[in-house]
Amino acid sequence: MACIFCRIVAGEIPAEVVLREPDVVAFLDIQPLADGHVVVVPRAHVALLEELEPAAAEALFRAVVRLARPVREALGAAGTTIGVNNGEATGQTIPHVHVHIVPRREGDGAGSVHTIFPRGARRPLGEVGEAIRRAAGGLT
Ligand code: AMP
Ligand code: ZN
Repeated sequence: MACIFCRIVAGEIPAEVVLREPDVVAFLDIQPLADGHVVVVPRAHVALLEELEPAAAEALFRAVVRLARPVREALGAAGTTIGVNNGEATGQTIPHVHVHIVPRREGDGAGSVHTIFPRGARRPLGEVGEAIRRAAGGLT
């Protein structure tokens, strides 16, 4: 098994595990962006969020919600940034879905998710909304 996260889930390589459930494992990031930086992973090896089975997706996000407060409180943080690099083009380095929970403090020097994108001209919202609704099979 080559995937690092599959190996952590299987207990083959060590990690500082903070939650272990039937479908989800959460552990400290080995190169934390802040103290208490946790990654939450499904047992199922899929690269992208949209490849998760519904039950695995539910278990994953239930675990993220369950951990958000303890991670924040344990580190005395003011909030958490919760994010997913979803695909290689986004900077995802390990092709096994994982949700980052990063404790945040006032003045920690990190930005919001808005700061990772350049500002610029955008297509009209109505046009883009229509394209997404069509791709999603008629969402309203
Ligand atoms: P991403 O860039 O979204 O794919 O994030 C992958 C994360 O996994 C990075 O923040 C790494 O520091 C973290 N990571 C890589 N190997 C390990 C490991 N063995 N144990 C814990 N975290 C890891
Ligand atoms: Zn994997």
